[in-house]
Amino acid sequence: MIRNMPARIPESLQKKIYQRLSFYDDLGVRLFYKDRGASISADKAQAAESVAPAVSQQISYEESALPKSTRKPEPPKPALSAPGFLPPLATAVQSARKLDVLHVPAGPSLFEAFDKVPDDSLLKIRTDLGECTRCKLHKTRNKIVFGDGSAKAELVFVGEGPGHDEDVQGLPFVGRAGKLLTQMIEAMGLQRKDVYICNVVKCRPPENRLPEKDEVTPCSPFLLRQLDAINPKVIVALGACAAQTLLETTRGISQFRGQWLEFRGRKLMATYHPAYLLRNPSAKSEVWKDLQKVMAVLGLEAKKGKSAEAGKSS
Ligand code: URA
Repeated sequence: MIRNMPARIPESLQKKIYQRLSFYDDLGVRLFYKDRGASISADKAQAAESVAPAVSQQISYEESALPKSTRKPEPPKPALSAPGFLPPLATAVQSARKLDVLHVPAGPSLFEAFDKVPDDSLLKIRTDLGECTRCKLHKTRNKIVFGDGSAKAELVFVGEGPGHDEDVQGLPFVGRAGKLLTQMIEAMGLQRKDVYICNVVKCRPPENRLPEKDEVTPCSPFLLRQLDAINPKVIVALGACAAQTLLETTRGISQFRGQWLEFRGRKLMATYHPAYLLRNPSAKSEVWKDLQKVMAVLGLEAKKGKSAEAGKSS
């Protein structure tokens, strides 16, 4: 055994440090610690610089959808990738007006080479999904939460994954966060039946933890088929999980929320998850600003009165 080797920083501590640095990054105080960067591993520093010279790569946990107490901090993840679905994101976002804010993965895309299914429909997709056992979530789920709303919606909301109430009812966003989402939709002058609501994963992750890569990967083709079949004008990614999955970035959502991005030729707006708003009501005004941009594109007028207020403030 080799003695007197420098002790390795335990992985749990590394995660905590990374998380804290990411949080500082989100606050825009990177310079505060940047010059002490020797303590950051060369790998991380290199990865950060390859994303964009000015801002380091990160995952934002602050905006994640679920109560903090149930979250396990995760190490920095590479962009989700698995060959076999859609054209490389690099192609998909080449014309995005805000491309500069995103990391375009160099490797194969999660959505790469996805062939459109001719005459696809939500019914066909649901049939193909079947009583899915493609990932481990099937062992603990109660009901598959496929999605809900109009097959012709101009606006699709994509969340993270079903929680307890959704798992029981088989419908997306029907719990506390769902009620807030419904209020937000109504504040936009719409009803739930006018939009489509779905999630990155269709089965509830145990204890509402973040969906894992081996759960997101097999579920993604179905989500993408849903988006293609509906062909909305605008996709709203609710929270970091949805935004990072669709955009294949590990960047914190606060770096690009509220900006128009492009996803496979469609406009995408990332905003905070309603569950985050339940914990941080003061962020509602930011989300309302984002939704107003969506409304402008869809030619919608805010509903006067209570619901609009619900969308705006705490
Ligand atoms: N949170 C989500 O991300 N999706 C749901 O369906 C419910 C809560």
